[in-house]
Amino acid sequence: MDTKYIFVTGGVVSSLGKGIISSSIGRLLLTCGYRVTIQKFDPYINIDPGTLNPYEHGECYVTDDGVETDLDLGHYERFTGIRTSVNNSVTTGKIYQAVIDKERRGDYLGKTIQVVPHITNEIKDRIKANAAGGKYDFIITEIGGTIGDIESAPFLEAIRQLRWELGGNALCIHLTYVPYLKAAGELKTKPTQHSVKELQSLGIQPDILILRTEKHLPQEVLRKVAAFCNVSNDAVIQSEDLPSIYEVPLNMHRQGLDKTILAKFGMEHVAGHEQSLSQWEDFVRKEKDLHASVKIGLVGKYDLQDAYKSIRESLHIAGIHTGKKVEIRFVNSENLNADNVEEALSGLDGVVICPGFGTRGIEGKIDAVTYTRTHNIPTFGICLGMQMMVIEFARNVLGLKDARSSEMNPDTPHNVIDLMESQKALSQMGGTMRLGGYACELAAGSHVRKIYGKKLIRERHRHRYEFNNAYLDRFQQAGMACAGRNPENNLVEIVEIPSLKWFIGTQFHPEYSSTVLEPHPLFMDFVRSL
Ligand code: GLN
Repeated sequence: MDTKYIFVTGGVVSSLGKGIISSSIGRLLLTCGYRVTIQKFDPYINIDPGTLNPYEHGECYVTDDGVETDLDLGHYERFTGIRTSVNNSVTTGKIYQAVIDKERRGDYLGKTIQVVPHITNEIKDRIKANAAGGKYDFIITEIGGTIGDIESAPFLEAIRQLRWELGGNALCIHLTYVPYLKAAGELKTKPTQHSVKELQSLGIQPDILILRTEKHLPQEVLRKVAAFCNVSNDAVIQSEDLPSIYEVPLNMHRQGLDKTILAKFGMEHVAGHEQSLSQWEDFVRKEKDLHASVKIGLVGKYDLQDAYKSIRESLHIAGIHTGKKVEIRFVNSENLNADNVEEALSGLDGVVICPGFGTRGIEGKIDAVTYTRTHNIPTFGICLGMQMMVIEFARNVLGLKDARSSEMNPDTPHNVIDLMESQKALSQMGGTMRLGGYACELAAGSHVRKIYGKKLIRERHRHRYEFNNAYLDRFQQAGMACAGRNPENNLVEIVEIPSLKWFIGTQFHPEYSSTVLEPHPLFMDFVRSL
């Protein structure tokens, strides 16, 4: 079978949830028995979002093969359980960098390098890169941004060309918005019509329209859109606001989106995969039926939902699997100090100390750890959070009052967290951290060994600093154990205080690999313990 391509574009306004729609389509096609991958093409010029402030773009997600990507890749993995990789995240910056490198090498010798065809050809090659080796039946490509943006023009031209080249093996899905005007009491389809016209003027006729809406759209509205936008009636789907993003695939399925997509490719579901979404349905049923609730504090410095997206989703998902409604309270570490920490963390069943960079809000994180450690409140430190657990222990248990990370002060006398050897000679910021999946060996008898139920694990990283092994013996003797280490270079990957109820810090990011149907054991155990 030829690889099938599905392009997902967005119109009218941003933030319609293209990532969730793409992920839902991926989940539905998987359930129909097909092999699927989802990739994101972002029109911004950064090579990757690794150097972006989370306030700009939300969390930076990291793939197992060590690429810093858009947070939508987190949705793709959580919804499909399929690992993404370097080919699944492309930006304008990466495209231009590749083309300019080729120009310097002389690959286009004698030619004038232009957006069309050189940039568009590079985009097309990247779109098709995941097809190599016949690994996937469907490649879903989400185009970031909104139709009409100057930046996205080359991507849309590439899609136009690809559609023409691929004929029946390509499909365009356009996501738009239908506003409800309260004063007039009317649902308005005009913005959708305009957005489709704009796409058509670029030479792209969408095959399927998905209409985001706050209110249920009656059949006549859907039919009107179909008629005015040249799409078949069964190809106008509505995506109403739902209580949970995990209900979206079910809503799309109820309207026959999976059937319509397959029919447009002249396909059916694979025999034996009668579009069974039962596991997913079970999950959503459980989500709606949560009784017990637990309160978890998220101690971090970015007061923005998307900044800790994967952590929030991992906690929520673990809650659903353990029958607990997870209520998250964001605690801004910049405002925390020894005097107000008790009040700020009062009533919380557990606390997550978040990842981060730089010195802002660091002392507040340390104060939070002092409080949770001395009050035996379950605590989960992730990356910088783990490093703060180590510093807090050094200061208040080992008596090294000026213990710090060299990230906070390069000349600190007790650099219990220090810059990694591999980082010392680097002069470039972007893409140079310790990134992606590395092996970790769990210590016999440790809490984490029991949680994972195995000795060797692999987890994703994104950091420059590490536990300073010169201090390891002192920590272990005083009760903070190294429970996981890299078997090749002995880097400390996990610390825990076994005498406490739940006190674990990981240098890696378990949140990147927690999915809806396979929640991460650490998040599961943490939530279960509350
Ligand atoms: N800033 C720390 C480091 O680079 C932690 C990074 C993180 O939390 N992702 O090591």
